[in-house]
Amino acid sequence: MKSTSHHDRRDENVPSAALLLLVGGERVAGGGAPLEVEDPFSATTLTRLPVADDAQVDAAVAAARAAARAWGQTPAAERGAMLHELARRLRARTDDIARVMTLEGGKPFVENRDELRQAAGTLDYFAELGRSSAGRVVPPVEPTQLSLVVREPIGVVACITPWNFPVLLLIWKLAPALAAGNTLVCKPSELTPLSTLMLAECVEHLPAGVVNFVAGAGDVGQALVDDERVDCVAFTGSIETGRKVAAGCATRLARVNLELGGKDPFIVCSDMSAELDVVARAGAWTAYFNAGQVCSGAERFYVPADLHDEFVERLVARSDELVIGDPLEATTDVGPLISRAQREKVIIQLEQAVAAGAQILSGGSIPEGAGAGHFLSPTVVSLAPLATPLLDHETFGPVAPVVRVRGLDHAIEQANSTSYGLGCSVFTRDIRNIVRCIRELRTGMIWFNDPLTENDASPFGGVKQSGLGRELGEEGLAAFQETKRVHIESHLGVKDWWFPYGGG
Ligand code: ADP
Repeated sequence: MKSTSHHDRRDENVPSAALLLLVGGERVAGGGAPLEVEDPFSATTLTRLPVADDAQVDAAVAAARAAARAWGQTPAAERGAMLHELARRLRARTDDIARVMTLEGGKPFVENRDELRQAAGTLDYFAELGRSSAGRVVPPVEPTQLSLVVREPIGVVACITPWNFPVLLLIWKLAPALAAGNTLVCKPSELTPLSTLMLAECVEHLPAGVVNFVAGAGDVGQALVDDERVDCVAFTGSIETGRKVAAGCATRLARVNLELGGKDPFIVCSDMSAELDVVARAGAWTAYFNAGQVCSGAERFYVPADLHDEFVERLVARSDELVIGDPLEATTDVGPLISRAQREKVIIQLEQAVAAGAQILSGGSIPEGAGAGHFLSPTVVSLAPLATPLLDHETFGPVAPVVRVRGLDHAIEQANSTSYGLGCSVFTRDIRNIVRCIRELRTGMIWFNDPLTENDASPFGGVKQSGLGRELGEEGLAAFQETKRVHIESHLGVKDWWFPYGGG
């Protein structure tokens, strides 16, 4: 672990655009109590943001409801053009928004800029997809008929998002939901609300009320979940909160899409002995990207016994060379964790593992010289017993626990052993291993030889407790569409099965 010098960063000017809600096309100051937004690098208050009061949440939903009909009937090509324009505006604001993301979230600026580029790409993808997917024609019962499957907007969608990728995970909802003709109320995480509020300046060309931004904590999220006028809730966050969201939606039978936690395995196959350098680099990338605060990042490594020691050695070497420090510095690899509480949670998991016999081979401590922020050094752990939380509960920190396995059978058995099922990374060139993994791994996603790579056209999401539904791709658009079956008979006439049975 190296550390960067402290950037004399803090001109501290959070733009005023980051401090206003967007309700019915108006930028308004929140009427609620101010929320302290922390800078996780300095562990000091970045700004105070007045959150939405009850009346503003109510007004945001009312505005989305009022705008729903006209937006739903706007030609898809026009909606698409507006989404492309949104992408263009986002690209033009990339550096400003990425800076605020870095201040409020602690993720390296370089990664935040990438996140915004990726978000703009997602907008462009759904701008086009929305123009070409209004349903399908299926064979009718009789040749005089037409049978249509019509895809319609659901109505008002509440988007409730977390702090780790505040803009991207919102755009994964906003882009398909708007392309499908829905209107939105968006509520960012209370830890990173500022960058989302800045997006209000990128949606000024949309009709008033089509997109609304409110801010606040879980109570504001819950108010949206419980609001009868909200037809669908799209949520990314913890399993615990996801359960509450699902329960709230179940009460009034509203639609719900959930993207929840992960405990992604990383499987190394025995044919990788000559490639362990590449594999260890990939492992460090997926374990430590965004300081390990990635739902689809690898959180447990399964390595065959004969490759274990060399893999661990290379992973330790890689971990030790990462630059930890000020996320505004272009050379920083790993920034602070989001909060003191998050770091505490990770440290407790490490302590439990060590108490059960695990060994920390690198990191595992608060680095010296990185500053007052919520830093934790990239950590490699071995010999953790299988039943410790470090191996079967989400960690969300820069930790790579490595487990020695007997072979692929054992690795697959272990990979499937938790209640999570988001993604899995596998390293192999052997086609037999690839086919087996596709068939046997119980996850929503598998990456072979290239962890974490996203594709707008390919659905993202998990099985088991990792979620419900998919984002991105055609599935990600369908998640925001209602299905209407239409039957058309072109020859009007009395059918011979219409009553009376004895008479016709
Ligand atoms: P994390 O642990 O990733 O911060 P949470 O699941 O607590 O995740 O939060 C994700 C989002 O859900 C945040 O925007 C948060 O404010 C919101 N939230 C928290 N509690 C509730 C709730 N009861 N209903 C709806 N949204 C909530």
